[in-house]
Amino acid sequence: MAIRRILIANRGEIALRIHRAAHEMGIETVAVHSTADADAMHVRLADHAVCIGPPAAADSYLNIAAIISAAEITGADAIHPGYGFLSENAKFAEIVEAHDIAWIGPKPEHIRTMGDKVEAKRTAGKLGLPLVPGSDGAVETIEEARKVAEECGYPVLAKAASGGGGRGMKVIQNEDELETQISQAKSEAKAAFGDDTVYIEKYLGNPRHIEFQVFGDGNGNAIHLGERDCSLQRRHQKVLEEAPSPVITPEERERMGMICANAMADMGYRGAGTIEFLWEDGEFYFIEMNTRLQVEHPVTEAITGLDLVREQIRIADGKPLSVTQDELRFTGHAIECRINAEDPFTFAPSPGQVTYYHAAGGMHVRVDSGLYAGYRIPPYYDSMIAKLIVYGRTREGCIMRLRRALEEMVVEGVKTSIPLHEELLRQPDVLSGDYSIKWLEEWLKDRDA
Ligand code: ADP
Repeated sequence: MAIRRILIANRGEIALRIHRAAHEMGIETVAVHSTADADAMHVRLADHAVCIGPPAAADSYLNIAAIISAAEITGADAIHPGYGFLSENAKFAEIVEAHDIAWIGPKPEHIRTMGDKVEAKRTAGKLGLPLVPGSDGAVETIEEARKVAEECGYPVLAKAASGGGGRGMKVIQNEDELETQISQAKSEAKAAFGDDTVYIEKYLGNPRHIEFQVFGDGNGNAIHLGERDCSLQRRHQKVLEEAPSPVITPEERERMGMICANAMADMGYRGAGTIEFLWEDGEFYFIEMNTRLQVEHPVTEAITGLDLVREQIRIADGKPLSVTQDELRFTGHAIECRINAEDPFTFAPSPGQVTYYHAAGGMHVRVDSGLYAGYRIPPYYDSMIAKLIVYGRTREGCIMRLRRALEEMVVEGVKTSIPLHEELLRQPDVLSGDYSIKWLEEWLKDRDA
């Protein structure tokens, strides 16, 4: 069935990332793009390119009919969705498969299950993943909510079943707030997702975000590729990610990793996935599963030596996993800085023309980016313009090299988050790895004061 031509249903650095893996496998690529992205690097490098609509993502990168037509016209025999856009749209995955095009992603039913948070949590519990204590599914009445909250102990969190991006989430400090906060969570969820189902969970005060990378072959075999620590976040957006986590021992990695891998094997999961946990006082609590490739996948590639996109393509092509769990080795340390076109401290977007660009280089330095001098960053999409990924034998060495690489990076014409990363990598808490998901926002507040 050998895949020969992949349509990349995405843009920016991830489109380029997929193109590179495909060409290294001798596979042709088809870029699809909006009118705003006609000059993008991935469009220039792809073997074929099809314009699928105007700038607005709803009319182009989310336009299923236009993307399927582009695949048909160019004879693409597989589609890779990247991350974001249609990557976790089960309906799209089904349509792709119904057109006899290989879907480089998980089985549609697994995308659907994990996309519904109540369903996902129930499934995770059945598969033996540790959960945040809370309601068993949706809470229908205030009475029920009160009972669950008392069992968990305040504070608790009301969360929308269809939630995403932190919306439809309300902290409830005590019983007096219960009724108002739940009804607010419900109306926010209804407005944002058209579904007012909410559930209740214990609110963790100061956790870390630690996620495990998993891979399945779809036939009951699965492996884990260790964890990533993504605790440095602002408004639930990851800013810097590292692997391994500074707080996880090899024994703990092995134990939790195997719980995750076994869960995926039991499910018959296919392709790449990420199981996200909050971690507090040595305990893991499942929050959600992403059924796609993550932005931060390169830190895992750096410490395992495995090309995750290549692995995804192989699996979609019906091949077995290229490594066994026993063959995998975790070596050294890797950190990724997300570089956005925005003010480094106010975070105001800064699209526009890049007048000069110089990427960092040298040993163990990787830059994933579609930037070039003269490129015009369109204002319509995510502000991430580059990822700088650095590897070192030790965490300390990795940080020294990362600082050196940041010094070398030059992006002129727009503001970028490079100065934020430079400052972050001099903070004692970051150097010691002693930070939770609250740390970055608190540091920013103190910095302003
Ligand atoms: P979304 O899909 O909206 O991003 P998640 O379930 O992934 O929702 O949660 C988003 C973020 O909200 C987490 O990264 C964490 O910062 C916070 N959060 C979620 N659940 C809890 C919890 N039980 N206690 C404390 N913080 C939480």
